[in-house]
Amino acid sequence: MSTDKKVRVRFAPSPTGGLHLGGVRTVLYNYLFARQHGGDFILRIEDTDQTRFVPGAEEYIFQCLAWAGLEPDESVKQGGDYGPYRQSERKELYRAYAEQLVEKGQAYYAFDTPEELEQMRQDFKTEQNPSPQYDYQVRNKMRNSLTLSKEETDRLLKENTRHVIRIKMPENESIGFTDMIRGAVSFNTSLVDDKVLLKADGMPTYHLAVVVDDYLMKISHAFRGEEWLPSAPVHILLWKYLFGLENMPQWAHFPLILGPSGKLSKRDGAKYGFPVFAMNWTDPKTGELTEGFKEKGFLPEAFINLLAVLGWNDGTEQELFSLDELISRFSIDRVHSSGAKFDYEKAKWYNHEWIKKLAPEELTARVKDVLAARGLVVSDDPLLLKVVQLVKDRASLLTDFYDQTAYFFKTPENMDLAAIQPKWNEVKQLFFAEVIRNYELTGDWKAETLENNFKEIAAANQLKPGEVMLPLRIMLVGGKFGPHVFDIAEILGKAETIKRIQHTLGLLG
Ligand code: GLU
Repeated sequence: MSTDKKVRVRFAPSPTGGLHLGGVRTVLYNYLFARQHGGDFILRIEDTDQTRFVPGAEEYIFQCLAWAGLEPDESVKQGGDYGPYRQSERKELYRAYAEQLVEKGQAYYAFDTPEELEQMRQDFKTEQNPSPQYDYQVRNKMRNSLTLSKEETDRLLKENTRHVIRIKMPENESIGFTDMIRGAVSFNTSLVDDKVLLKADGMPTYHLAVVVDDYLMKISHAFRGEEWLPSAPVHILLWKYLFGLENMPQWAHFPLILGPSGKLSKRDGAKYGFPVFAMNWTDPKTGELTEGFKEKGFLPEAFINLLAVLGWNDGTEQELFSLDELISRFSIDRVHSSGAKFDYEKAKWYNHEWIKKLAPEELTARVKDVLAARGLVVSDDPLLLKVVQLVKDRASLLTDFYDQTAYFFKTPENMDLAAIQPKWNEVKQLFFAEVIRNYELTGDWKAETLENNFKEIAAANQLKPGEVMLPLRIMLVGGKFGPHVFDIAEILGKAETIKRIQHTLGLLG
């Protein structure tokens, strides 16, 4: 690749369902590389497999990227000079490339019916090779333009006989390339089957479309997940045949993201109760909902940060990176080649750190949305800001803010009376009655004053503060949690504090 080539990278998802965190990491690394080099980041929709079409999946990908703040420069939405950006709309242009390969003897027409293919699998099955592929050993015994006469082939084509175009993989050659992460990678062509390039419905397969589009869209670097490494020899060969290797993008295959047992899957998420998709995804066929990081309560800042370090580090001890820092620090050379283990506890740690790191007003705005989504509409912004600052150390997820703040805005729904009752007695009942009388007369409604008065009354009644502080907390909060109880009372205000104490005293009888 010549060095003066403009950096143009792409994320090329097939819109078939939820967007896995590995996909978002691929987006992120592409995005960082593009921003770093003043290049372009392209989103191309690879929807040539019509049997896998899932309504809504494309729109969902855009929503995920918008939430993560990783929007493309060119796509079906943004437009651009290299469109269309949806492969199904480019259908007509691929056939010519496939036919060009046939003319040069690098691909061939194959007319085999599904029954014939099945028969082949039976005929060539051996103990060592239980699922034979359509490859150099098999192709000479099948019904294709390599075995049929030119006249017969022409006749079949003229009659519109169902056919595909397959690549003719060379026999026992080595094909290699330099991966920016893995270094020299090579494959023996005999191990690779004659992949279909153009399907019977006239659509290209992924293999043909990805190469043609990377070429036409002037992609300088093709970055993708490791699961695509086995396809690389087919792509390299297509590059060589169609466009010459010197025009080929530089490749990098990112390490797998590992779960508790192998590649992190949606099933791991369901089993261990953590999200695997960026945002909630509802399968339109089954109605099954898979939870996303967004809805689970992750900040996009934290999500980006934790994805960035799943497979990369900057060589220092630093763990928290903003998107801008990542743009300046990221380098492909420091991406690991071995799998990166996803640790949900650590993911929550990142989120917690970002909750603390975010500007108070910004955090408050996000919490406000989370509360509204649960039906708690808060209109007093300064109060919410105060409350959020008071409790934010206690939240790992944005959704934790509901339990941590709701009692400031409405009377607790559930009262953990069971935590008070066993040790409740007359003395405590009278003590709280006195606290109410005292608080009614307290002019300086400040945490410190409230605490001092409370402790004085306790001492006068021979009660240890610890014995009555938990009941007070439950009266105000509903449960055994929350920040300093007198800070809570200060924020609740005189009338509400007294009302809640009175109400609980009534319940305790
Ligand atoms: N369409 C492929 C996918 O679904 C893209 C792989 C590539 O980037 O080459 O991930």
